[in-house]
Amino acid sequence: MSEKKLLLNGRILGRKGLMDGSLRLHNQMVVEMAPELTPQPGEEVVDCKGAILVPMVLDLHVHGGGCHLLHSDNPEDLHQACRAQFLNGTGWLLATFTLATIKSWYKGLEAIEQVMAKQRRGASSEAKLLGAYLEGPFLNPEMAGGMEKEYIRQWKFKYFRKVVENFAGTVKIVTLAPEHPSAEDVLSLAKELGFKVFLGHSMASFEETQRAIELGAAGFTHLFNAMAPYHHRQPGIVGAALLSSLPCEMIPEPAHLHPASWELVLRMKGHGKILPISDGSLLACCQKERYRWGKIHLIRQGTASLNPEGKLYGTAISLLQGLAILHKKGLVPIEKGIPMATNNPAAILRKRIPSYLSTGHRGPVAMVETDQDPPRVRVFS
Ligand SMILES: [Zn+2]
Repeated sequence: MSEKKLLLNGRILGRKGLMDGSLRLHNQMVVEMAPELTPQPGEEVVDCKGAILVPMVLDLHVHGGGCHLLHSDNPEDLHQACRAQFLNGTGWLLATFTLATIKSWYKGLEAIEQVMAKQRRGASSEAKLLGAYLEGPFLNPEMAGGMEKEYIRQWKFKYFRKVVENFAGTVKIVTLAPEHPSAEDVLSLAKELGFKVFLGHSMASFEETQRAIELGAAGFTHLFNAMAPYHHRQPGIVGAALLSSLPCEMIPEPAHLHPASWELVLRMKGHGKILPISDGSLLACCQKERYRWGKIHLIRQGTASLNPEGKLYGTAISLLQGLAILHKKGLVPIEKGIPMATNNPAAILRKRIPSYLSTGHRGPVAMVETDQDPPRVRVFS
C-alpha cells in the first residue's frame, strides 16, 4: 500500500541543524525536504504548526511502555510495549530487567529472543528490540531503589554465569555495584562473553570504582540516581564517574535530576559522554494514572512514576519526551539532544543509526511538540 504524507510548517532537524520547512514522506522514506512544498495528489497533509521533526531515538534503558513490561515471559507484552514506545519516538531499545528470580530472568530472556526473531522477519511499527539490559543482580541492597532487594541474595555468580552464557549476544549491558564480592568475576565474564558492564546501584568508594574501571567497566547506570552522593572527603562512585572518560546514563526527567546536575555533567564530560535514557516504567507511553502488574503497583506523578511508598520507580515518559523537556528547560537544545540519543547509544552497541533527517532517510519521522506539557510526540511512518 502506498503511504504518502506531506508534513508542512515544521522545524526539521537536518545535517546543519534546525531549519524551517516541510518534508515529504513516501512509503516510509523522506523523498523531499525544502523550505516550501506544495501538496501532490494522494498525499495526506499534516500541518506541524512549528513542531520539531527529528529521527527516532535509541533508548538503552527502558522497562516498559503502554502499561506493559518489557520483562515478561509473554512475548505479546514485549510487542505491546515496543508498539507504545514506537508511537512516542523510540526506534530501538534494550528491554531492561529489574531484580527478580533466576527463572523470571530466564523466561524473560527467552521472550526477548522470540520477539527479536519475529521483528527480524518484519514488524515495522514497533521499536526494534536490540537485546537485554540486566539491572543487577549484583547491586548494593542499600541502593536498590524501588526494586525488591531480597532477590539480590538469591543470586550466586554461578547462576548468573549460566543465564548470561545461555543468552550470550542477547544480553548487552549489565549493571554492577563495584563493591559487590562478585564484581571481578562479572567483569571478567563480560570480557569473555562480550557484554558491557555499567556501574551503578552502588555505594562504592572512589577506589573501588576506579578498580572496576581498570577491569573494563564501560559506563555508569543512571548517574546520581541510586548512588551514594558525592562527598568532598569520600568522592565515591559519583566522583569516579565524573572524572572518568566513561559515558554516563542520565535521566532527562526533573524528579530524577535537578537541572544543575545536568549542567554540571554537561560541562565536565560534554555531550559525547552522556547517554540520555528514559528509565521508563510501564506507565510510559500509557494514559493510565496508576497501574498494577503482579507485585508492581505504580502511580504517575507528573512525568515520574512512583511506587505506593512514594519512592521513585522510573519515569512515565519516552526518551524523546525527555529530550524535549531538556530542550524546553534550555539545558540541551534538541539538535544536540538527538545525537546524544542516537550516536552515543549506537556506539555502545556498535550500531549506526541516523542522527538527523535527510532526503533518502528511511524509517519514521517523529514530531515533537515542545509547547505541550508534558511534551507530545507523534510518529509518521
Ligand atoms: Zn532502570
